[in-house]
Amino acid sequence: MDRLIIKGGRVIDPANGVDSTGDVVIEAGAFASVGGSADVGKGDRVFDASGCIVCPGLIDPHVHAREPGGEEAETIATCAAAAVEGGFTSVCCMPNTEPALDHAASVKFVYRQSKEARRARVFPVGAVTKGREGSELAEVGLMSEAGAVGFSDDGTVVASAGVMVKALKYLAMVDRALMQHCQEPTLTSNSVMNSGPMAVRLGLMGWPAVAEEVIIERDIRLNRRIGCSYHVQHVSCAGSVELVRAARADGQPVTAEASPHHLLLTEDMCDGYNTMAKVNPPLRRQADVDAIRAGVADGTITILATDHAPHAKELKALEFDAAPFGMVGLETALGLYVKALVEPGLIDWPKLIEMMTINPARLCRLEGLPHQLGTLTVGRQADVTVIDPAESWQIDESVFAGKSSNTPFMGWDVTGRAVGTFVGGRTKLDRHGRGGE
Ligand SMILES: [Zn+2]
Repeated sequence: MDRLIIKGGRVIDPANGVDSTGDVVIEAGAFASVGGSADVGKGDRVFDASGCIVCPGLIDPHVHAREPGGEEAETIATCAAAAVEGGFTSVCCMPNTEPALDHAASVKFVYRQSKEARRARVFPVGAVTKGREGSELAEVGLMSEAGAVGFSDDGTVVASAGVMVKALKYLAMVDRALMQHCQEPTLTSNSVMNSGPMAVRLGLMGWPAVAEEVIIERDIRLNRRIGCSYHVQHVSCAGSVELVRAARADGQPVTAEASPHHLLLTEDMCDGYNTMAKVNPPLRRQADVDAIRAGVADGTITILATDHAPHAKELKALEFDAAPFGMVGLETALGLYVKALVEPGLIDWPKLIEMMTINPARLCRLEGLPHQLGTLTVGRQADVTVIDPAESWQIDESVFAGKSSNTPFMGWDVTGRAVGTFVGGRTKLDRHGRGGE
């Protein structure tokens, strides 16, 4: 029997309440045993995890794989390669492609490309409305059957309250989350950075925080009697955290995600017309960063998501107004989350792992059949990430596995890095030759 033993690590599996030193044994692509000490037999492959954390494969519920239509910036295969490099075994790609992922055939296309790439698993998030145009509901039932793991018009908001109510009702029936990109369009036409003195000084159109808050507030109210899983994507401001906190205290099925850049950067980064800092929603003020971190610390925000948004070099080289929004995130996320959340003592490693495994798995319906991801449960398919929490490294675009390298974090020193990534028991990353191939 072909066995892989991930030996001697600190095994953390939040869903099963596991946090202890031991071995994880994988047989025929599935977990055979978790914890305890395994005897190494003849022919067993051994991955040395001493000094490392061994946890369920990391899951990112918000990436842009750019395929079809944006292949010069990223493809499903290169996105899946970047994911593995960052320690992610599963990523969920947004439907704002060209054409949009808005029907069952496009959902199946993502699965096909993902399978062919043989790196991380890439799961499709379907569009809420046809063409992401906001007027007519997409075939969400057929798309769910085909495997869409959630629904969003990301890049744009579902602006119409009438369409939103319909969407919430249908998605409640098919048991999928509505992931909202919260941006009231009439408050943000031509907006490129946070509203305030910096935008005035730079002569750039401001983007008020209320444009985000007003959508969250509306959606929570619309959903009150419907009870669909409602998810706020990339929270950027303090008011949004407050709204989510109140809704959750009220027992409503509301979740929210935070991205590395909103946990670490402010609008100051836009100074000098730095297009690497142009992102949607925009970087805000320090008070917003502090509020988002506090929201993570008190359990208001339960999911971490990169919003990995690759763009070709020549587009980010345009002037600030014309450059596209977004930054890459998959290969830098882990070290940045550690810097923002673990190093200041806001959360510990088990909580960080919960926010990157079982919580996004539940949001995207990956925990149950047919996928059964997000845990180290015996019998399930073995997606595992091994993290060296002490490895210090510098963010360097020249080694990125993804196709694009647009990030404002270039040159940052971070600590904590994936050193082993295993998908279905197969080694996809062994950074330092710890064994097991
Ligand atoms: Zn978005």
